[in-house]
Amino acid sequence: MKKKIAVIGSGLSGLSFAKFIRSDVEVHLFDKSRGFGGRMATRRESDYQFDHGAQYFTVKTTKFKTFLAPYLSKGIVQPWLANFVELDRNKIIHSKKWTIDSGHYVGAPYMSSLCREIANEQNVFLNTEITKVEKKNDNWELTDSNNNKVDGYDWVVFAVTPQHVQNIMQFNFDGKSRLTSNTLSACYSIMLGFKNAFQMNWEAALVTNSHLGWVSINSSKPGRQGGFSILAQSTNIWAEKNINMDVENVEKHLIDELSDILKVDVRTYDFARVHKWRYANIKQKQKGKGYYINSALKIISVGDWHINARVESAFLSGYKAAKKMNEIM
Ligand SMILES: Cc1cc2nc3c(=O)[nH]c(=O)nc-3n(C[C@H](O)[C@H](O)[C@H](O)COP(=O)(O)OP(=O)(O)OC[C@H]3O[C@@H](n4cnc5c(N)ncnc54)[C@H](O)[C@@H]3O)c2cc1C
Repeated sequence: MKKKIAVIGSGLSGLSFAKFIRSDVEVHLFDKSRGFGGRMATRRESDYQFDHGAQYFTVKTTKFKTFLAPYLSKGIVQPWLANFVELDRNKIIHSKKWTIDSGHYVGAPYMSSLCREIANEQNVFLNTEITKVEKKNDNWELTDSNNNKVDGYDWVVFAVTPQHVQNIMQFNFDGKSRLTSNTLSACYSIMLGFKNAFQMNWEAALVTNSHLGWVSINSSKPGRQGGFSILAQSTNIWAEKNINMDVENVEKHLIDELSDILKVDVRTYDFARVHKWRYANIKQKQKGKGYYINSALKIISVGDWHINARVESAFLSGYKAAKKMNEIM
Protein backbone atom coordinates (compact mmCIF):
# COMPACT_ATOMS: atom_id res chain seq x y z
CA MET A 1 0.00 0.00 0.00
CA LYS A 2 1.18 3.55 -0.78
CA LYS A 3 2.44 5.52 2.19
CA LYS A 4 0.38 8.64 2.91
CA ILE A 5 1.76 11.96 4.14
CA ALA A 6 -0.27 14.99 5.21
CA VAL A 7 1.44 18.39 4.86
CA ILE A 8 -0.08 21.25 6.85
CA GLY A 9 0.82 24.49 5.02
CA SER A 10 1.35 24.97 1.31
CA GLY A 11 3.90 27.77 1.36
CA LEU A 12 7.18 27.16 -0.43
CA SER A 13 8.56 24.86 2.30
CA GLY A 14 5.54 22.52 2.26
CA LEU A 15 5.41 22.53 -1.54
CA SER A 16 9.14 21.83 -1.86
CA PHE A 17 8.77 18.91 0.52
CA ALA A 18 5.88 17.54 -1.57
CA LYS A 19 7.76 18.04 -4.83
CA PHE A 20 10.89 16.17 -3.75
CA ILE A 21 9.41 13.31 -1.74
CA ARG A 22 9.48 9.91 -3.46
CA SER A 23 6.83 9.65 -6.17
CA ASP A 24 5.37 6.42 -4.72
CA VAL A 25 4.15 8.38 -1.67
CA GLU A 26 0.69 9.97 -1.66
CA VAL A 27 0.89 13.54 -0.39
CA HIS A 28 -2.02 15.78 0.59
CA LEU A 29 -1.38 19.45 1.41
CA PHE A 30 -3.79 21.52 3.49
CA ASP A 31 -3.76 25.31 3.69
CA LYS A 32 -6.05 27.66 5.55
CA SER A 33 -5.70 30.40 2.92
CA ARG A 34 -7.85 30.75 -0.16
CA GLY A 35 -4.84 31.52 -2.36
CA PHE A 36 -1.39 30.09 -2.98
CA GLY A 37 1.96 31.41 -1.79
CA GLY A 38 1.87 31.60 2.01
CA ARG A 39 4.16 34.51 2.83
CA MET A 40 5.04 34.75 -0.90
CA ALA A 41 1.54 36.15 -1.30
CA THR A 42 -0.04 38.44 -3.87
CA ARG A 43 -3.22 40.41 -3.42
CA ARG A 44 -5.29 41.61 -6.37
CA GLU A 45 -7.66 44.48 -5.69
CA SER A 46 -9.68 46.21 -8.44
CA ASP A 47 -7.09 47.35 -10.99
CA TYR A 48 -4.08 46.85 -8.71
CA GLN A 49 -1.87 44.05 -7.52
CA PHE A 50 0.50 43.85 -4.59
CA ASP A 51 3.09 41.35 -3.43
CA HIS A 52 2.43 42.08 0.21
CA GLY A 53 4.75 39.41 1.67
CA ALA A 54 8.16 38.55 0.20
CA GLN A 55 9.37 41.31 -2.09
CA TYR A 56 12.05 39.50 -4.07
CA PHE A 57 14.42 36.64 -3.46
CA THR A 58 18.08 35.90 -3.93
CA VAL A 59 19.73 32.63 -4.92
CA LYS A 60 22.82 31.56 -2.99
CA THR A 61 22.89 27.76 -3.34
CA THR A 62 23.26 25.51 -6.38
CA LYS A 63 20.25 23.47 -5.19
CA PHE A 64 17.94 26.48 -5.33
CA LYS A 65 19.41 27.61 -8.64
CA THR A 66 18.81 24.18 -10.20
CA PHE A 67 15.30 24.06 -8.80
CA LEU A 68 14.46 27.50 -10.23
CA ALA A 69 15.90 26.87 -13.70
CA PRO A 70 12.71 25.44 -15.32
CA TYR A 71 10.56 28.20 -13.79
CA LEU A 72 13.00 30.81 -15.10
CA SER A 73 12.78 29.39 -18.60
CA LYS A 74 8.97 29.43 -18.41
CA GLY A 75 9.03 33.06 -17.20
CA ILE A 76 7.31 32.18 -13.90
CA VAL A 77 10.40 33.47 -12.14
CA GLN A 78 12.05 36.57 -13.57
CA PRO A 79 14.92 38.83 -12.58
CA TRP A 80 13.87 42.19 -11.20
CA LEU A 81 16.20 44.81 -12.66
CA ALA A 82 15.15 47.57 -10.33
CA ASN A 83 16.81 50.89 -9.66
CA PHE A 84 17.54 50.28 -5.99
CA VAL A 85 18.25 52.96 -3.41
CA GLU A 86 19.03 53.20 0.27
CA LEU A 87 17.16 56.01 1.93
CA ASP A 88 18.07 57.75 5.15
CA ARG A 89 14.47 58.77 5.71
CA ASN A 90 13.88 60.90 2.58
CA LYS A 91 17.47 61.29 1.46
CA ILE A 92 19.10 58.91 -1.02
CA ILE A 93 22.42 57.78 0.45
CA HIS A 94 23.22 55.03 -2.01
CA SER A 95 21.85 53.87 -5.35
CA LYS A 96 22.48 50.90 -7.56
CA LYS A 97 20.93 49.37 -10.66
CA TRP A 98 20.15 45.71 -10.07
CA THR A 99 21.45 43.63 -12.97
CA ILE A 100 21.03 39.99 -14.01
CA ASP A 101 24.27 39.27 -12.16
CA SER A 102 23.11 40.84 -8.90
CA GLY A 103 20.43 38.11 -8.82
CA HIS A 104 17.18 39.58 -7.46
CA TYR A 105 14.21 37.49 -8.56
CA VAL A 106 10.43 37.65 -8.34
CA GLY A 107 7.56 35.37 -9.28
CA ALA A 108 5.78 36.57 -12.43
CA PRO A 109 3.21 37.83 -13.08
CA TYR A 110 2.73 37.57 -9.31
CA MET A 111 5.04 36.66 -6.44
CA SER A 112 2.61 33.83 -5.70
CA SER A 113 3.02 32.42 -9.25
CA LEU A 114 5.91 30.14 -8.28
CA CYS A 115 3.95 28.41 -5.50
CA ARG A 116 0.87 28.20 -7.71
CA GLU A 117 2.88 26.48 -10.44
CA ILE A 118 4.36 23.92 -8.02
CA ALA A 119 0.94 23.40 -6.45
CA ASN A 120 -0.56 22.53 -9.86
CA GLU A 121 1.28 19.20 -9.70
CA GLN A 122 0.13 18.47 -6.13
CA ASN A 123 -3.04 17.60 -4.18
CA VAL A 124 -3.64 20.88 -2.37
CA PHE A 125 -6.76 21.56 -0.32
CA LEU A 126 -7.12 25.32 0.18
CA ASN A 127 -9.52 26.97 2.66
CA THR A 128 -8.76 24.14 5.07
CA GLU A 129 -7.49 25.24 8.45
CA ILE A 130 -6.18 22.30 10.43
CA THR A 131 -6.97 22.72 14.11
CA LYS A 132 -5.98 19.35 15.57
CA VAL A 133 -3.68 16.44 14.77
CA GLU A 134 -4.10 13.17 16.68
CA LYS A 135 -2.73 9.62 16.53
CA LYS A 136 -5.54 7.15 15.74
CA ASN A 137 -4.72 3.42 15.33
CA ASP A 138 -1.08 4.17 14.66
CA ASN A 139 -1.91 6.72 11.94
CA TRP A 140 -2.49 10.44 12.02
CA GLU A 141 -5.93 12.02 11.91
CA LEU A 142 -6.37 15.72 11.04
CA THR A 143 -9.36 17.82 12.05
CA ASP A 144 -10.20 21.11 10.33
CA SER A 145 -11.99 24.21 11.63
CA ASN A 146 -15.33 22.84 10.33
CA ASN A 147 -14.75 19.66 12.33
CA ASN A 148 -14.17 17.59 9.17
CA LYS A 149 -11.73 14.75 9.74
CA VAL A 150 -9.27 13.05 7.40
CA ASP A 151 -7.20 10.11 8.56
CA GLY A 152 -4.88 7.28 7.60
CA TYR A 153 -1.69 9.34 7.29
CA ASP A 154 1.59 7.59 8.11
CA TRP A 155 3.45 10.88 8.60
CA VAL A 156 2.44 14.47 9.16
CA VAL A 157 4.51 17.47 8.09
CA PHE A 158 4.07 20.79 9.88
CA ALA A 159 5.04 23.37 7.23
CA VAL A 160 3.83 26.31 9.32
CA THR A 161 5.31 28.85 11.71
CA PRO A 162 6.13 27.85 15.33
CA GLN A 163 3.04 29.73 16.58
CA HIS A 164 0.85 27.68 14.24
CA VAL A 165 2.61 24.46 15.31
CA GLN A 166 1.82 25.42 18.91
CA ASN A 167 -1.88 25.80 18.08
CA ILE A 168 -2.26 22.56 16.13
CA MET A 169 0.05 20.20 18.04
CA GLN A 170 -1.98 19.36 21.11
CA PHE A 171 0.20 16.44 22.20
CA ASN A 172 3.47 16.46 24.14
CA PHE A 173 6.84 14.84 23.60
CA ASP A 174 10.43 15.46 24.56
CA GLY A 175 11.88 18.29 22.51
CA LYS A 176 8.51 19.72 21.42
CA SER A 177 9.59 23.19 22.52
CA ARG A 178 12.13 23.21 19.67
CA LEU A 179 9.18 23.46 17.29
CA THR A 180 7.08 25.90 19.22
CA SER A 181 9.30 28.30 21.12
CA ASN A 182 10.78 30.40 18.31
CA THR A 183 9.01 33.72 17.90
CA LEU A 184 8.55 35.37 14.54
CA SER A 185 8.35 39.18 14.44
CA ALA A 186 5.38 41.08 13.08
CA CYS A 187 5.29 43.41 10.07
CA TYR A 188 2.65 45.64 8.49
CA SER A 189 2.39 45.96 4.71
CA ILE A 190 0.65 48.99 3.24
CA MET A 191 -0.74 48.69 -0.29
CA LEU A 192 -1.54 51.82 -2.30
CA GLY A 193 -2.97 52.04 -5.82
CA PHE A 194 -3.08 55.26 -7.85
CA LYS A 195 -5.16 56.28 -10.86
CA ASN A 196 -2.24 58.35 -12.14
CA ALA A 197 1.36 57.20 -11.90
CA PHE A 198 3.81 59.69 -10.45
CA GLN A 199 7.41 60.12 -11.43
CA MET A 200 9.94 58.17 -9.36
CA ASN A 201 13.59 57.65 -10.14
CA TRP A 202 13.84 54.37 -8.23
CA GLU A 203 11.72 51.25 -7.87
CA ALA A 204 12.97 49.63 -4.67
CA ALA A 205 14.18 51.24 -1.46
CA LEU A 206 15.59 50.07 1.81
CA VAL A 207 14.74 52.74 4.37
CA THR A 208 16.37 53.67 7.65
CA ASN A 209 15.43 56.29 10.20
CA SER A 210 11.72 55.65 9.65
CA HIS A 211 8.87 53.40 10.82
CA LEU A 212 8.96 52.03 7.28
CA GLY A 213 11.80 49.69 6.32
CA TRP A 214 11.00 49.01 2.70
CA VAL A 215 9.21 50.73 -0.20
CA SER A 216 8.74 49.41 -3.73
CA ILE A 217 6.88 50.35 -6.87
CA ASN A 218 5.08 47.04 -7.11
CA SER A 219 3.79 47.75 -10.62
CA SER A 220 7.38 48.07 -11.87
CA LYS A 221 8.13 44.39 -11.27
CA PRO A 222 8.34 42.24 -14.41
CA GLY A 223 5.11 40.98 -15.97
CA ARG A 224 2.84 43.11 -13.77
CA GLN A 225 -0.39 44.46 -15.21
CA GLY A 226 -2.79 46.99 -13.79
CA GLY A 227 -2.41 50.41 -12.27
CA PHE A 228 0.51 52.14 -10.58
CA SER A 229 0.97 50.51 -7.18
CA ILE A 230 3.22 51.01 -4.19
CA LEU A 231 3.97 48.47 -1.49
CA ALA A 232 5.65 49.58 1.71
CA GLN A 233 6.51 47.62 4.82
CA SER A 234 6.90 48.74 8.39
CA THR A 235 9.92 47.82 10.44
CA ASN A 236 9.46 44.79 12.69
CA ILE A 237 10.12 46.98 15.73
CA TRP A 238 7.32 49.42 14.89
CA ALA A 239 4.90 46.58 14.10
CA GLU A 240 5.66 44.79 17.37
CA LYS A 241 5.17 48.00 19.37
CA ASN A 242 1.89 48.77 17.63
CA ILE A 243 0.51 45.29 17.16
CA ASN A 244 -2.84 46.16 18.75
CA MET A 245 -3.31 49.53 17.06
CA ASP A 246 -6.56 49.98 15.06
CA VAL A 247 -5.98 49.21 11.43
CA GLU A 248 -7.26 52.71 10.43
CA ASN A 249 -4.58 54.32 12.61
CA VAL A 250 -1.86 52.02 11.27
CA GLU A 251 -2.93 52.95 7.73
CA LYS A 252 -2.96 56.66 8.47
CA HIS A 253 0.41 56.59 10.21
CA LEU A 254 2.16 54.59 7.49
CA ILE A 255 0.66 56.76 4.74
CA ASP A 256 1.87 59.93 6.50
CA GLU A 257 5.28 58.33 6.92
CA LEU A 258 5.39 57.34 3.25
CA SER A 259 4.39 60.83 2.11
CA ASP A 260 7.30 62.24 4.03
CA ILE A 261 9.78 59.69 2.72
CA LEU A 262 8.73 60.04 -0.92
CA LYS A 263 8.18 63.80 -0.65
CA VAL A 264 4.91 63.15 -2.46
CA ASP A 265 1.43 63.36 -0.94
CA VAL A 266 0.34 59.72 -1.29
CA ARG A 267 -3.03 60.55 0.30
CA THR A 268 -4.17 60.95 -3.32
CA TYR A 269 -4.44 57.17 -3.53
CA ASP A 270 -7.32 55.42 -5.27
CA PHE A 271 -6.95 52.25 -3.19
CA ALA A 272 -5.38 51.67 0.22
CA ARG A 273 -5.19 48.57 2.42
CA VAL A 274 -3.07 47.40 5.33
CA HIS A 275 -2.12 43.79 5.93
CA LYS A 276 -0.86 42.70 9.34
CA TRP A 277 1.65 39.86 9.26
CA ARG A 278 1.49 38.66 12.85
CA TYR A 279 4.28 36.17 12.21
CA ALA A 280 6.45 37.57 9.43
CA ASN A 281 10.04 36.63 10.02
CA ILE A 282 12.43 34.98 12.45
CA LYS A 283 14.81 37.45 14.04
CA GLN A 284 18.03 35.48 13.96
CA LYS A 285 19.71 32.99 11.70
CA GLN A 286 19.28 29.48 13.12
CA LYS A 287 21.86 26.73 13.49
CA GLY A 288 21.11 23.13 12.57
CA LYS A 289 19.96 20.95 9.68
CA GLY A 290 17.14 23.22 8.56
CA TYR A 291 14.28 20.82 9.38
CA TYR A 292 13.10 18.42 12.11
CA ILE A 293 12.24 14.74 11.76
CA ASN A 294 10.98 12.58 14.63
CA SER A 295 10.95 8.98 13.31
CA ALA A 296 9.35 7.54 16.45
CA LEU A 297 6.35 9.85 16.28
CA LYS A 298 6.47 10.18 12.48
CA ILE A 299 6.30 13.95 12.45
CA ILE A 300 8.32 16.44 10.44
CA SER A 301 8.66 20.19 10.72
CA VAL A 302 9.83 22.42 7.87
CA GLY A 303 9.77 26.16 7.24
CA ASP A 304 12.06 29.10 6.58
CA TRP A 305 12.34 29.73 10.33
CA HIS A 306 14.51 26.60 10.74
CA ILE A 307 17.19 28.58 8.82
CA ASN A 308 16.35 32.28 8.38
CA ALA A 309 13.60 34.50 6.99
CA ARG A 310 14.25 33.96 3.31
CA VAL A 311 12.42 32.36 0.41
CA GLU A 312 15.51 30.27 -0.36
CA SER A 313 15.50 28.97 3.25
CA ALA A 314 11.86 27.84 2.90
CA PHE A 315 12.83 25.92 -0.23
CA LEU A 316 15.95 24.37 1.37
CA SER A 317 14.06 23.30 4.48
CA GLY A 318 11.38 21.42 2.51
CA TYR A 319 13.86 20.03 0.00
CA LYS A 320 16.34 18.72 2.61
CA ALA A 321 13.61 17.14 4.74
CA ALA A 322 12.21 15.32 1.69
CA LYS A 323 15.64 14.02 0.71
CA LYS A 324 16.21 12.74 4.26
CA MET A 325 12.78 11.10 4.30
CA ASN A 326 13.49 9.37 0.99
CA GLU A 327 16.48 7.72 2.69
CA ILE A 328 14.72 6.62 5.85
CA MET A 329 11.26 5.65 4.62
C1 LIG B 1 6.31 40.98 5.00
C2 LIG B 1 7.30 39.95 4.55
C3 LIG B 1 8.37 40.31 3.73
C4 LIG B 1 9.29 39.36 3.30
N1 LIG B 1 10.28 39.73 2.44
C5 LIG B 1 11.12 38.79 1.95
C6 LIG B 1 12.06 39.11 0.95
O1 LIG B 1 12.08 40.25 0.48
N2 LIG B 1 12.91 38.14 0.53
C7 LIG B 1 12.86 36.85 1.01
O2 LIG B 1 13.64 36.00 0.57
N3 LIG B 1 11.93 36.52 1.94
C8 LIG B 1 11.08 37.43 2.41
N4 LIG B 1 10.11 37.07 3.32
C9 LIG B 1 10.14 35.71 3.87
C10 LIG B 1 9.48 34.70 2.93
O3 LIG B 1 8.21 35.14 2.56
C11 LIG B 1 9.39 33.38 3.67
O4 LIG B 1 10.72 32.97 3.98
C12 LIG B 1 8.74 32.21 2.93
O5 LIG B 1 7.67 32.61 2.13
C13 LIG B 1 8.29 31.21 4.00
O6 LIG B 1 7.72 30.05 3.41
P1 LIG B 1 7.21 28.89 4.38
O7 LIG B 1 6.68 27.79 3.54
O8 LIG B 1 8.30 28.55 5.34
O9 LIG B 1 6.06 29.53 5.27
P2 LIG B 1 4.67 30.20 4.79
O10 LIG B 1 4.82 30.82 3.45
O11 LIG B 1 4.24 31.06 5.93
O12 LIG B 1 3.67 28.96 4.65
C14 LIG B 1 2.93 28.47 5.73
C15 LIG B 1 1.52 28.17 5.23
O13 LIG B 1 0.81 27.51 6.27
C16 LIG B 1 -0.52 27.94 6.22
N5 LIG B 1 -1.09 27.62 7.54
C17 LIG B 1 -0.79 28.19 8.74
N6 LIG B 1 -1.53 27.61 9.72
C18 LIG B 1 -2.29 26.67 9.13
C19 LIG B 1 -3.26 25.75 9.61
N7 LIG B 1 -3.60 25.68 10.90
N8 LIG B 1 -3.88 24.93 8.70
C20 LIG B 1 -3.56 24.99 7.37
N9 LIG B 1 -2.66 25.86 6.88
C21 LIG B 1 -2.03 26.68 7.75
C22 LIG B 1 -0.43 29.41 5.88
O14 LIG B 1 -1.65 29.86 5.31
C23 LIG B 1 0.72 29.41 4.88
O15 LIG B 1 0.26 29.33 3.54
C24 LIG B 1 9.16 38.01 3.73
C25 LIG B 1 8.08 37.64 4.55
C26 LIG B 1 7.16 38.60 4.95
C27 LIG B 1 5.97 38.17 5.78
